[in-house]
Amino acid sequence: VEIELMRIEKTGVISELAASVAHEVRNPLTVVRGFLQLLQERLELKEQDRQYMGLVMGELDRAESILGEYLSFAKPQIETFDSVDVSALVESLGTIVLPLSNASGVQFVLEVEPGLVIEGDRSKLQQCLLNITKNAIEACMGAAKAEVKVIADRHQDAVRIRVVDNGCGMSQEHVRRLGTPYYSMKDKGTGLGLMTTFRLVEAMRGKLKFHSRQGAGTTAVLQFASVQGQGDDLL
Ligand code: ADP
Ligand code: MG
Repeated sequence: VEIELMRIEKTGVISELAASVAHEVRNPLTVVRGFLQLLQERLELKEQDRQYMGLVMGELDRAESILGEYLSFAKPQIETFDSVDVSALVESLGTIVLPLSNASGVQFVLEVEPGLVIEGDRSKLQQCLLNITKNAIEACMGAAKAEVKVIADRHQDAVRIRVVDNGCGMSQEHVRRLGTPYYSMKDKGTGLGLMTTFRLVEAMRGKLKFHSRQGAGTTAVLQFASVQGQGDDLL
């Protein structure tokens, strides 16, 4: 309970700053990127300079995506509570994630029960699933027989989505700190993905838990209250 409270307190302070800073900084960045693109098209750059320009653009995009993560964190209120077809959403995750899992040499497996429906925001839930799945894939990169499995089913009265990987795993201390801003073990990590994810899941009245063993792998468990399928009511 204490850990949970600390997490909320810390994130509360940050979210106030995040909204204004992210907005203010994002706009000039977008302008800079636009004009650079224009220059790149007008100038006939030498190979080496083209490479430099590529680096500049890449870093600008990276800044963009960090600010994007901040913004969705600063605005975690779910404005639209609609019926979300979780089964379809998880199935579609396959298509989005496949290029990354293929490039990382990770086997991606889906096990989806049909007819799973919750109340929430489809695109925000998708963002949560992508953050969790991306971490899972990154955690098993380079491992032998690397596999990430996403299982969506019913558990008691809830809709449950588990993301199981056989990657590097985490220590208990590490698991406890998940969701803390900037907590990242990766060279190019932002440490903002799970912070955002925890907030969004909370806003959708769901639960997110991690079980992990160092060197063995991690399971992320998402749970939401199940909603009677619309079809059932109509029939
Ligand atoms: P980022 O991915 O940018 O580092 P996240 O907030 O998404 O930030 O994750 C924070 C940290 O939690 C990661 O750097 C990683 O160390 C750890 N982590 C998250 N998911 C997993 C996982 N499935 N297996 C091992 N470590 C994980
Ligand atoms: Mg991440």
